[in-house]
Amino acid sequence: MSEPLTIALNRGRILDEFLPLLAASGIEPDEPMADSRRLVFDSKCGRARLVVMRGADVPTYVAYGAADIGITGKDTLLESDGDGLYDRMGLGSARCRISSAAPVGAVFPAGRLRIATKFVNVAKRYYAEQGRQVEVIRLSGAMEIAPLMGLADLIVDIVDTGNTLRANGLEALDTIAHISTRVIINRASLKMRFVEVEALLDSLRAAVDARAGPDGGA
Ligand code: AMP
Repeated sequence: MSEPLTIALNRGRILDEFLPLLAASGIEPDEPMADSRRLVFDSKCGRARLVVMRGADVPTYVAYGAADIGITGKDTLLESDGDGLYDRMGLGSARCRISSAAPVGAVFPAGRLRIATKFVNVAKRYYAEQGRQVEVIRLSGAMEIAPLMGLADLIVDIVDTGNTLRANGLEALDTIAHISTRVIINRASLKMRFVEVEALLDSLRAAVDARAGPDGGA
């Protein structure tokens, strides 16, 4: 048998939602991931090696070819430069959006806006497209606090139900990007291991369709 395909997996909710699809495609870890502190797992079938990591590192492993395939959120892809990889399919899971948000009823200064976010590249690109002068301040979490503390006028963050924003007196303003889980492929791997990669993508597609059901999951 040829070398296993290496799949980089975004730990947490994306991984939890992806494992049943992977199992439906015939790939299961050699030991239950939830009970283990290991980060690298062989598959029982020998076709794949599964590596668990933070979402932001998935595009890096795939771009450099240390992983053939990656599973991560569109938000991390938008934040990476996207070199060396293809965004090949969506899994329809972990849907949310990246939005700007500010304190309810906030009045903004006429000049440069201060934006606090961990999505620095996404925010810079968006406000440049809008022709708006901004100063982007990098934070690593709990962005909601920044306007309350006077650090920034606005935040750019992931919004799902909007409950987190509401609980902190903020409201969503512009939707900057729609987000869901994506399957990415290293460019060289897609060429060199085309048949195996396409076979895996086909079976994942079938598993996604089966999960959605005949009404498309509506
Ligand atoms: P909500 O209160 O439902 O609007 O959820 C907002 C918070 O949940 C954000 O601050 C995110 O950290 C997190 N969140 C919700 N959905 C996702 C997702 N699909 N991927 C990553 N983080 C998410």
